[in-house]
Amino acid sequence: MQVAVIGAGAAGCFCAAEIRRRLPSAGVTVFEAGPKALAKVAVTGGGRCNLTNSFKGVSRLEEAYPRGAAVVKNAFKALSPEQTFQWWENAGVALTVQPDGCVFPESQDAMQVVRTLERLMRVSGVELRCGQRVSRIRPGFLLDIEGSDEPFRADAVLLAAGGLKEDALRQLLPPQVSITPTVPSLFTLKVPDPELNALMGTVVPDARLELAGSGISAQGILLLTDWGVSGPATLKLSSYAARELALSAYKGELSINWLGSQGPSVHEWTLQASSRQGRRQLSGYRPDGLSDRLWEHILGRAGVDRTRRWAEIGKEERARIENALTRDLYPISGRARFKEEFVTCGGVSLDAINPRTLESRDFPGLFFSGEVLDIDAITGGFNLQAAWSTGYMAAIGIARKLSHIC
Ligand SMILES: Cc1cc2nc3c(=O)[nH]c(=O)nc-3n(C[C@H](O)[C@H](O)[C@H](O)COP(=O)(O)OP(=O)(O)OC[C@H]3O[C@@H](n4cnc5c(N)ncnc54)[C@H](O)[C@@H]3O)c2cc1C
Repeated sequence: MQVAVIGAGAAGCFCAAEIRRRLPSAGVTVFEAGPKALAKVAVTGGGRCNLTNSFKGVSRLEEAYPRGAAVVKNAFKALSPEQTFQWWENAGVALTVQPDGCVFPESQDAMQVVRTLERLMRVSGVELRCGQRVSRIRPGFLLDIEGSDEPFRADAVLLAAGGLKEDALRQLLPPQVSITPTVPSLFTLKVPDPELNALMGTVVPDARLELAGSGISAQGILLLTDWGVSGPATLKLSSYAARELALSAYKGELSINWLGSQGPSVHEWTLQASSRQGRRQLSGYRPDGLSDRLWEHILGRAGVDRTRRWAEIGKEERARIENALTRDLYPISGRARFKEEFVTCGGVSLDAINPRTLESRDFPGLFFSGEVLDIDAITGGFNLQAAWSTGYMAAIGIARKLSHIC
């Protein structure tokens, strides 16, 4: 009995070790196109590996997983984030939870995660073949390996090849497997507004961003840069609106609510400013959380004279200030990278798989896990958590399937 795993990334390696633990009689061979296993894990989280999240700030799974939340929910029944935490600690990787919920190894070293998985694969007898790219999966299963005339025969196959582009997936898979078109997610936005760009380095603690006209919005910390906007709120918006932004070639309009959750009460705030702070200049009294420079920029956007006093301005000017505070519109001219970090939205369609086992509906014995599936998340350790949980779930399915055969 032979299992072939395509891709020695987070999902593939986790699954391979788990299959051998569950079914020691099965041979497990991992094919990796690159020279080394787990190359991406080594650079995750800026080399610190944000390997999961406490999920304390997540009220609905869809907030963290804009695509694939229902399947992730099933995968968490196989291996929940708490069990994942325990799994890594049992494997000797002590973990620490940051105040924002992100979980890292206490060592702050992604290589500890890499070495641990490599060791577990080695001791459980997984065969790792680096530098071997699988070029086609033929039903049956026969795998064509680039540069080899001899196909590899397997009883079960796990495709865990990460965020491949649509063309590469189509070449690899039988044509019956449906694929959702792929586009990038997790990027920053170019906003060509010289006055906004001059505020680079400004951090807004709680802003709400909306892709104007789409109804898609995201809230959180906003960072202004010399090319546009970055920070958690922007990355979230890029994830929620990954498809819409790709469709418009990353052009559009960004609506900024500089007050985030305080936004709805802005009308009361300006009224109260006029009545109780009337003697102060507009520039001298501002909403909490905004820097002086940003506040002056917003007053400029509202077209009011910042040296006037709050008591002097009327309803119409107050309305302009409220508008600039909560619906400040800027052009989006493109996307930019976030530290080289990105994930792929799209991939093997979730309609093509059994959501309880991650097995292909058309090709029993062919399983999928990780980013190759149409599952992706916002930043914060959620993507790796999906890789661990779907890898684990596929291992259960594969071990169960093969134990029936033998
Ligand atoms: C720079 C960066 C930093 C990140 N940081 C974080 C983080 O801190 N926390 C987090 O949760 N997420 C992070 N992510 C996202 C996360 O790394 C991925 O979602 C996760 O690694 C996906 O795991 P995977 O196993 O599905 O794919 P991958 O880890 O990408 O592994 C897939 C493997 O398959 C191999 N492969 C592809 N095609 C073939 C083929 N035909 N034959 C053989 N091998 C093949 C590839 O070479 C690769 O090694 C980061 C991503 C990047 C790019």
